[in-house]
Amino acid sequence: MIMTDEKKIKKIPDLTIWGGTALTLNSKNEVILNAQIDVLHGRIISIQSIDKPIVHSAKKVIDARNCIVLPGLINGHTHTGMTLLRGIADDMPLHSWLNEKIFPLEKKWGSKEFVYVGTLLAQIEMIRSGTTLFNDMYYFESSAARAVHESGLRGICGQTLVEISGVEDTNKIFSQFDEYLSEIESYPRVIPAIAPHSIYGVSDSIWEQVSNYAFQKKLRVHLHLQETAAELEDCLKKRKITPTAFFEKIGLWKNKAIAAHVVCVTPEDIEILSRNQVGVVHNPESNLKLGTGIAPIVKLRKAGIKVSLGTDGAASNNNLDLLQEADIALKLQILQYGVGALTALDIVKILTIEGAAALKLDHEVGSLEVGKSADLIAISTEQAHATPIYNPFSHLAYSASGSDVKHSVVGGSVIMENRKILTLDESSILEEARAWGSRIAQF
Ligand SMILES: [Zn+2]
Repeated sequence: MIMTDEKKIKKIPDLTIWGGTALTLNSKNEVILNAQIDVLHGRIISIQSIDKPIVHSAKKVIDARNCIVLPGLINGHTHTGMTLLRGIADDMPLHSWLNEKIFPLEKKWGSKEFVYVGTLLAQIEMIRSGTTLFNDMYYFESSAARAVHESGLRGICGQTLVEISGVEDTNKIFSQFDEYLSEIESYPRVIPAIAPHSIYGVSDSIWEQVSNYAFQKKLRVHLHLQETAAELEDCLKKRKITPTAFFEKIGLWKNKAIAAHVVCVTPEDIEILSRNQVGVVHNPESNLKLGTGIAPIVKLRKAGIKVSLGTDGAASNNNLDLLQEADIALKLQILQYGVGALTALDIVKILTIEGAAALKLDHEVGSLEVGKSADLIAISTEQAHATPIYNPFSHLAYSASGSDVKHSVVGGSVIMENRKILTLDESSILEEARAWGSRIAQF
């Protein structure tokens, strides 16, 4: 097994990762034993199986023996700033949780600093559990983007739009989006998006303008879609069509669109999402915790829809560990559709290459292939729960946890080595987060 870019391999790599079992997640799902992966200018230039590491003077060498090496995990839907509200309101259904607890708390505490510290905190947890790309939606999102820039992770940062009441605010909304886009344009690993909250969070007169704005600016649109039965019923009562059909009618789906949840959908909705290539993000733990239901992931995938896995915010999960999420996602679909309807390999694809496709980034990340960005992780297999391993996909889906992640690389830069985060000052961020927690707890 040799895959190389012959011209570039003659150059000295910036980074070599060697000795692990590499899951490429390429179209053949090739697994390469004793893999050596060479990286130059942030991109993979060679992946090959080796007996001994090829001796060369790569600027940086990572020993991945006794590790599974795979593309970095992708969190398709989260609100990173919400880590500062983790555990503040549990055991409530979605709409009371939002209206009685979360929205008032965000109104009281939401600020640039709150989002900045919350996003730094979230990224520590995400790096430590293998995430290399996340799709975020929150207020003061330029602060989240700044935190992404500092951590070395890759982020789609969607500025939220919620509770818009009238057209008189229109000019302000779009000038604020303009301002947001100019604030984040210097961050190379941040992908801008706008994130109109949901059918119920934005007024009808604004939706069409949001859609046109995104289209003109070529922005991804990230929204919550049909998370609860009540959301679907209210929309049917008010508009006589489902939210999915309403958004098709106003042209929202002509954008690169990413819909989170999609729990309560009709067969017609599934057809609409499929023909418009809307990426869907499944958030099983949040859906379970808020009691909203189980998204029909098997049916969505059968219809050709690309699915990503998300944690949602830490206040409704309550952690950002995607491997834990994968285990639950898989078992829920088995419960709904039977054993084998969704497999261990399927869920690892959803965490990587298929998740990248749902976010329209599979040309860049999601698999270990020559030419792609070197966004990858190494997961240690030295623990008891990883011994023996007959099938690495099974291990990742059913047994591994985020704390097994040993190394993390994004765009060829090492951001965690031997579980030490190299880009962020972990102890001072935790201290700041604790100080925020004390202030919020007194409120
Ligand atoms: Zn959400």
